[in-house]
Amino acid sequence: MAVRLVMMGAPGAGKGTQAERVAREHGVPRVSTGDILREAVQAGSPLGKAAKAVMASGALVSDDVVIGIVRDRLARPDAAKGFVLDGFPRTVAQAEALDESLDHAAPLVVVDIEVPTEVLVSRLSSRRICAPGATVCEKCGGKLVQRPDDTADVVRERLRVYERDTQPLVEFYRRRETFRAVDGDQTPEGVARDIAAAIASVLGAKR
Ligand code: AMP
Repeated sequence: MAVRLVMMGAPGAGKGTQAERVAREHGVPRVSTGDILREAVQAGSPLGKAAKAVMASGALVSDDVVIGIVRDRLARPDAAKGFVLDGFPRTVAQAEALDESLDHAAPLVVVDIEVPTEVLVSRLSSRRICAPGATVCEKCGGKLVQRPDDTADVVRERLRVYERDTQPLVEFYRRRETFRAVDGDQTPEGVARDIAAAIASVLGAKR
């Protein structure tokens, strides 16, 4: 059965890493609105110009803009049999738009990676991503830099925005049979194992 997954979790919960892994294992694309927006900022496109200051402040880009991005991306042929959404939806309005754009061919699995706030803060302020700049990435040999929105002030703002706008979304999804929470305060391998079991339990129950 096709996997349609929403990977949820606060900034620093490990969503990106885990989303990438699930996407690879299931042979479906990982769709990260954060990556798409960062690429647009790099490219200096009209979307990037509009999103740059909002992203730098730690606030959310408007629902209309990100809903449009995801609609376009999910309409591409490689997403026809499934996808892993990473960083979308982040508001209840985005989740409702996603529901409207999907048929019922496969369930929408929602996995929330739960991590205590103090662990998130320390992970985010020491996080480095691959980009032209400083020390070297073990995976690709490229340079590692701090994301411009991983500085202490912006991290605090992103966690505040998460609590305010995205935590209600977890409650929105929690009532569904296809929702699973996993403990994100363990090794990446442990989290991956729990996510695989969570997905299997939803898809198994739906067969
Ligand atoms: P991320 O890489 O997912 O942490 O996203 C980085 C930034 O991009 C966020 O702090 C927001 O400014 C913006 N962004 C990414 N996804 C969304 C979304 N679904 N809704 C609104 N803003 C988003």
